[in-house]
Amino acid sequence: MKITVVGTGYVGLVTGTCFAETGNDVTCVDIDANKVKKLSSGQITIYEPGLEKLFERNLKEGRLSFTTSLEEGIKGAEVIFLALPTPPGADGAADLSFVLNVAAHLGKIMTDYKVIVDKSTVPVGTAERVAAAIAENCKTPFDVVSNPEFLREGVAVDDFMKPDRVVIGTTSERARKVMGDLYAPFVRQGNPILFMDEKSAELTKYAANSFLATKISFMNEIAILCEKLGADVDMVRRGIGSDDRIGKRFLFPGIGYGGSCFPKDVQALVKSSEDVQYNFKILNAVMDVNERQKLFLLPKIQNYFNNDLGGKHFALWGLAFKPNTDDIREAPALYIIEALLAAGATISVFDPEAMSNVQRLLSNKNGKIVYAEHQYTCLENADALIIATEWSVFRTPDFQKISTSLKNKVIFDGRNLFDIARMKELGYHYESVGRIPVS
Ligand code: NAD
Repeated sequence: MKITVVGTGYVGLVTGTCFAETGNDVTCVDIDANKVKKLSSGQITIYEPGLEKLFERNLKEGRLSFTTSLEEGIKGAEVIFLALPTPPGADGAADLSFVLNVAAHLGKIMTDYKVIVDKSTVPVGTAERVAAAIAENCKTPFDVVSNPEFLREGVAVDDFMKPDRVVIGTTSERARKVMGDLYAPFVRQGNPILFMDEKSAELTKYAANSFLATKISFMNEIAILCEKLGADVDMVRRGIGSDDRIGKRFLFPGIGYGGSCFPKDVQALVKSSEDVQYNFKILNAVMDVNERQKLFLLPKIQNYFNNDLGGKHFALWGLAFKPNTDDIREAPALYIIEALLAAGATISVFDPEAMSNVQRLLSNKNGKIVYAEHQYTCLENADALIIATEWSVFRTPDFQKISTSLKNKVIFDGRNLFDIARMKELGYHYESVGRIPVS
């Protein structure tokens, strides 16, 4: 099948590459000329495990190409995916201008039947709005399908190639057949393609992300209670996770969720609820808890240093909002950096993949942040180590090297990476989330 993917970011590039991998002829369109130039010359623009190999193969074999021209990109395409940004607007609602502008443009240039697929996360009713934007100038028949994406950054290729489910929202038989054929190779193991109406598909995506965010905020509150009552959240987590109705996953407490999806999607669902005069109480609480949680370690750090962080130097491991990605959007580490700098401290940071993104974002803070070349050089002369992302390389570090590099054997761990008893044995002052501190 000939496919076009409009928007070549995390979702678009993975979608385009994976559809090319199953034999389709894919053209990716992006307005960022620099990105298109890099991708066309074989240079990958995001870090995502396993993607580069597929990208290189499909580019070489001519199944994957890139252009800045929408007109050129949709030539001969049967299906056009919109993998465009839907950032939060000033009122918290998803900003649909990227999606609707491209839809209006498509209406002007489409000359034969096409299936236009909303892959972006969009509020209920967007499929109708996209159809209206196209129809304004379009004389040929078309269908608009809602096909929300559930991939997780860090394991995006695996998630796309072997999805738990594919959700396809359409009431058109013709579009249903096209979409079913396209996704058939990805569900050969028997995972379902769930066909539904457009609105249900749109809401499914928000409900999924909001439910997962709720699980995280719930466990973060349990962790706070554990500290206050003298319980251990790891025990509680195991205790509840072995109940099938609850499940083991997504029960890890930490310093809040970040990324480009959970924060904006929870907020957008709250806004959608308000638009129909409904106060979604749980989700408002989920957002409040998360805001507070991002700075959960700060009072502990302040307390340890007698409320005087001026002149102190900290080592920070982990900048990406989660491991195995270079994505720093809404990353808790950024909030910690801001707070420490505001309190008069300086910081050395290390992340396996996200350093250049942070360097670009915080270029106005050069001089106050040292970008270390290695996780251990990051520790030199630091008064304490703070851990913000659970990269595997941080899980079993060389504690000997840590203790010789740090000024004090002090670790504030926002991801509960280390065993409490071991840290006590090694003589660290170690504070984590929802567990009894050791000194
Ligand atoms: P992104 O910011 O990484 O990529 C968007 C791309 O669209 C960019 O390359 C940008 O240059 C391009 N673009 C902007 N305007 C354009 C235009 N007019 N024409 C062509 N290209 C244009 O975004 P993303 O993370 O890939 O997210 C895309 C959508 O998918 C969002 O709605 C998001 O909520 C949703 N989503 C994201 C994830 C994720 O993990 N990142 C997962 C599921 C769903």
